[in-house]
Amino acid sequence: MSGSAPSASAGGEPGQAFRFCPSCGAGGFDFLDGKRWLCKRCGFEYFHNVATAAGVILHCPEGIALLERARDPGKGKLGLPGGFVDPGERAEQAALRECREEIGWAPPKLDYIGSFPNAYRYGGLVYDTCDLYFYYRFPEGADLPVFTLLDSEALSIAFRPLEGIREGDLAFPSLARAIRITARLGRPGP
Ligand SMILES: [Zn+2]
Repeated sequence: MSGSAPSASAGGEPGQAFRFCPSCGAGGFDFLDGKRWLCKRCGFEYFHNVATAAGVILHCPEGIALLERARDPGKGKLGLPGGFVDPGERAEQAALRECREEIGWAPPKLDYIGSFPNAYRYGGLVYDTCDLYFYYRFPEGADLPVFTLLDSEALSIAFRPLEGIREGDLAFPSLARAIRITARLGRPGP
């Protein structure tokens, strides 16, 4: 995500982020059920919906390709090529687009691992996300393409064996769950 950070929130709770109705300007813009605002005066309703994100577990001969994050959330920790799904986009397309944007290469196909919830703190506000994880394993003996870091969100690429990734090194709990399940499944090669 990019752009200027929201500043009105205290503690990252969405309910504290907006105090006035964006439609009529009245106060009493109440945050309800942990997911929506409702204006008492004009009835305007706004949903703080779960955002969809997609990431790719790239299983290279050297190990899983992990990106050292340059920024929060998870600054200095390891993430995957991936990001938020754009409006009108399929999650698979988003996963491939983010690969191209971040490492200059995208896999020819993807297997779906599963989806896991996450809380993404950005600009002082917490966004609940549903992170979809995909997997690609390079065929035995395949030449590894040159990965080029194109995105300022990553500092470096690290390769770690699937079974040896420390969960404390990972940026997101959803990623830790996806790695754990991938290791347990013993994903076969193509
Ligand atoms: Zn209103």
